[in-house]
Amino acid sequence: MRFILVGPPGAGKGTQAVNLAAHFSVPHISTGDIFRANLKEGTPLGLEAKSFMDRGELVPDQVTNKMVKDRLGKGDLDNGFLLDGFPRNVRQAEVLEEILDEKKSPLEAALELSVDSAEIINRLAGRRTCRNCQRAFHLMYERSKVDGVCDSCAGELYQRDDDKEEVIKRRLEVYSEQTAPIIDFYRERNILITIAAMGSVEEISERAIAALMALS
Ligand code: AMP
Repeated sequence: MRFILVGPPGAGKGTQAVNLAAHFSVPHISTGDIFRANLKEGTPLGLEAKSFMDRGELVPDQVTNKMVKDRLGKGDLDNGFLLDGFPRNVRQAEVLEEILDEKKSPLEAALELSVDSAEIINRLAGRRTCRNCQRAFHLMYERSKVDGVCDSCAGELYQRDDDKEEVIKRRLEVYSEQTAPIIDFYRERNILITIAAMGSVEEISERAIAALMALS
């Protein structure tokens, strides 16, 4: 299965991506995670991305598209892939289409996670992320067993700089101005699937899997 997740920040893309990638046995490719890993290691790519990420802006296409092209060139994609956080504008969607056309392996689905806007701020402001494995928790909805410690790898949980309220506002604006238009892009190609991203993590995963399985 070759598919992408689309939805505003806070829709639960990262959390769902982990479950869906495991279910379909495909690599989970998150551009946000790749940027954060580079940032942590202090690479030139990480340093370049930082100022954009801190402001809630998109990292320039030139940088992001090259990074994705390199990643999609690796040899672990026989089973497909799940892209999370890419594409984030129509130009990126076009570039992805070009990359996949060249490989004669087009995208099969764009799964849109739809969520009430009032719910989003709540979800993002309470989110805590593992510094080590990037797993997301929530102060109210998904607490870790030990406060501040990741259940999966015992890494330290922290609040992402871009999960602070002023930045959240800008990320939501960026989503509606730049990212939301890709929904029509995929609707026109007849591969858009929209599900309600409300309820428990498990309920949403089941809904997503059922919708994706109905494709084949
Ligand atoms: P995420 O973890 O997906 O919320 O991404 C965190 C931040 O990384 C975003 O707010 C952007 O600054 C940057 N980023 C992630 N994916 C992309 C992308 N496809 N294009 C541009 N910037 C991105």
